[in-house]
Amino acid sequence: MKKIIESINYYHKIIIAVLIGMSFPLIYLFVYYTGGIKYVYSHTMYIPILLAGIVFGFKYGVICGLIAGVLLGPLMPLVVETNEPQVFFNWFYRMIMFVLIGGLSGYFFDKYKKTLKKNEKLYLHHPDTKVPNINFLMEYSDTYIDGKVLIASIIINNKNRISEVLGTDIYIKVINVIYHFLDDELPKESIVVQADSEKLWVLFKLRNMDEDGEKITKILSHDLDIEGIKLFIDFSIGISESINFKACKTLIPFRDSDRLAGYAKENNLPYVIFDKELLHKKYEFNLLGSFSNALKNNETFLTYQPIIDSNTGSVVAVEALIRWLNPDHGLIMPNDFIPLVESTKLIHSMTNWVIRNAVRKQIELKENGLDIFVSINLSSKNLHNPLFYKKVVEIIAEENGNPNKLIFEVTETVLLKEDKYSKKTIEKFKEAGFRMAIDDFGKGYSSLTYLNLYEIDYLKIDRHFMSKIINSPSVLQIVEATVNLAHQFNLKVVAEGVEDQETYDKILGLGVDYIQGFLIAKPIKQDKVLDWCTKFNNKNNKSKS
Ligand code: C2E
Ligand code: MG
Ligand code: MG
Repeated sequence: MKKIIESINYYHKIIIAVLIGMSFPLIYLFVYYTGGIKYVYSHTMYIPILLAGIVFGFKYGVICGLIAGVLLGPLMPLVVETNEPQVFFNWFYRMIMFVLIGGLSGYFFDKYKKTLKKNEKLYLHHPDTKVPNINFLMEYSDTYIDGKVLIASIIINNKNRISEVLGTDIYIKVINVIYHFLDDELPKESIVVQADSEKLWVLFKLRNMDEDGEKITKILSHDLDIEGIKLFIDFSIGISESINFKACKTLIPFRDSDRLAGYAKENNLPYVIFDKELLHKKYEFNLLGSFSNALKNNETFLTYQPIIDSNTGSVVAVEALIRWLNPDHGLIMPNDFIPLVESTKLIHSMTNWVIRNAVRKQIELKENGLDIFVSINLSSKNLHNPLFYKKVVEIIAEENGNPNKLIFEVTETVLLKEDKYSKKTIEKFKEAGFRMAIDDFGKGYSSLTYLNLYEIDYLKIDRHFMSKIINSPSVLQIVEATVNLAHQFNLKVVAEGVEDQETYDKILGLGVDYIQGFLIAKPIKQDKVLDWCTKFNNKNNKSKS
């Protein structure tokens, strides 16, 4: 495109030169056939003179002024009809005026063009280093590079050190040398610009990210000798891609390469290439951003999974399990968003929301003749929060709930940490009548040493054991030993994730107290849970009698 603009510029000058050249004899004939210089038409000559000055500058303005002066001077009669000549002073004065017009217009336009060029240079280049800047990138046409574009952000990590120790002038030279290395050695259509004082951006047609990364690193590893000083440049490169060159001009794709260069710097790596993991992190980041409104917008809801008593076969509890129906991504399961939410303060409002809704459900079930437990999952972050207990008590009071029918599930990692706040909070919950359960037992550290430190009511054996209990005698042994030990500590045992009858029978034989799993029911929508549990219990009672 630049070439097209240049060629248009070139041809447009030729066209104007031809027009000016033709206009002289034409205007001469025009003045002649309208009766001679006596009449007003000679003023038409100012047009080609001015044009020559504007387009071709001072020199050509003066020359054209002279030619016009002669054509309309001694060569043109005052009155054609009588062939009366002009007096010398008359045509000479006119010629001086023509030369002045041509010369002055040329002079001022030359000056104007020079200033314009200077400003353009300033606009397109970094003020200190004179290396092309971001505006320079914008000057290219949207299709300058076709197809996918590789973009690399190069950060000069030791910029401050170089400037401080050797001076800013040396640093400016460093940038220039690096710029020229890149510009000379990268593929022909590459663009190299200085994005800020310590950052360069490189763009060229994407071929192979790994090879291109190596190539840039190799170029930057050249020995730098500036004014006899051997310099070590500590750089970090972030490499990313853009779907096309047009997108690069929005500068958005550089966010990734910049971030990666920062990551490379933090981790002392020469370069880091954009990968799917980063893309996933970005997705997670967006997701987390939209979670802040999810609770307010009623995008979250609870499902309830029944837990049955292995002796009576009736539903004794339901576990509240959160779901998020995201308008953009559809249904999101807790394992895909809770770890993200847990990394922020949002986990507190989320848990408060779960508790409030679970308490309401417990009351609703009770009012419909089903006074069962509702089990709620807590995050370790909740227990570390010194204000958590007070908030829970407040919610229960507001909702008129019954702590004696609520179970809080925590994972064993919380207990293993022996955190002061967590321990205190658990103790206070116990005093207030809440039940406590250890969730996913066996998934992590698997130690029962903390059991005498806390007053725990239930131990929930992780579902991964259930899937192996039939085929693995050692798993069976572990589960059996765990059940026995838990009973010795007066804990009731819940088997999580029971999916088939065979496992159910086996686990019953081990003396497990409660069963939860897909065999009984998958998590049930909040408006269906009462109906499901009532029917299940009725059927169970009937089969017993
Ligand atoms: P969890 O507390 O251990 O909950 C049990 C999980 O196992 C649930 O997954 C449940 O659907 C699944 N499950 C139950 N029975 C079976 C089975 O027979 N087979 C299989 N394959 N899976 C079964 P879900 O609902 O996806 O929840 C996953 C985890 O997310 C929960 O594990 C819990 O740690 C967390 N979570 C869920 N809701 C909340 C919440 O409100 N707050 C917090 N802090 N965590 C929650
Ligand atoms: Mg749980
Ligand atoms: Mg569990």
